Amino acid sequence: MTAFATPGSATPARRGLMFVMSSPSGAGKTTLSRRLLREDPGITLSVSATTRPPRHDETDGKDYYFVSPERFQTMVKDHELLEWATVFGNRYGTPRAPVEAALASGSDVLFDIDWQGTQQLQQTDAASDLVRIFILPPDLGELERRLIARDTDHPEVIADRMARACDEIRHWGEYDYVLLNESIETCLAELRAILKAERLRRKRQLGLADFVRAMLGEGG
Ligand code: 5GP
Repeated sequence: MTAFATPGSATPARRGLMFVMSSPSGAGKTTLSRRLLREDPGITLSVSATTRPPRHDETDGKDYYFVSPERFQTMVKDHELLEWATVFGNRYGTPRAPVEAALASGSDVLFDIDWQGTQQLQQTDAASDLVRIFILPPDLGELERRLIARDTDHPEVIADRMARACDEIRHWGEYDYVLLNESIETCLAELRAILKAERLRRKRQLGLADFVRAMLGEGG
C-alpha cells in the first residue's frame, strides 16, 4: 500500500482505523476475522474481556481474556474498557489501552463486537476512525445449521442464540458496509477490498499534504 511518511518525522504515515465486524453468532465472522488477521500484518485483533467460560478451542489472552464478574466490574469502574455490553447473560468489553496504543502506532484494529458495542464506539471521539461492517448469513436456516455444526453450545443456548440473531440482524442499518456471507472466499475478498479502500482515504494518509507540496516544489 502507498504510504506517505513525513521525512525525518516519527509521525506514522497513517493513523490506524477501527475495523468493526458484527454479525449474529454463526454467520462465519470468526473464520473471516481469523483469515484476515493471518494474512494481513497491518491489522491486529482487539482481544475482549469476557465473563463467559472458555470454549474447548479457545485460549486465554488470544481469543478472550476470561475474567471473573468481579474483575470485569473493576475494569468498568476504573474506565479500563472502551465499551462493554451484556450478551447471552455474559459481559463482554474492549480493553482500552491496547487499542489506543495500536491506533497511535498506525496499526489497524479489528473488533469482533456486537451492535451495542458498535453504537458505543460511534459515540466516542474515535468515531472518525471507525469502519463498521455487518455480516449477514445467507438465511436463518443456514445460520442454525452452522451453530449446530459448531457443536460448542448446549441446545438451549443455540435456541437463545437464534433468537438473539434476529435482534442483531435488526441493527444492520447502523453499519457502513453489509456483506452476505454465502461463500467465505467471496466475503473475504470483499473485506480485503473495504480495508484497502478505507486505508487509502485521504484523511487517513497523514503525510500526504507534505508529500504533494514537496512534489510540486512548494515546500517550506
Ligand atoms: P461469543 O460468546 O460467541 O464469543 O460472542 C458473543 C457475542 O459477543 C458476539 O456477537 C461477539 O461479537 C460479541 N462480543 C465479543 N466481544 C465483545 C466486546 O468486547 N464487546 C461487545 N459489545 N460485544 C462483544
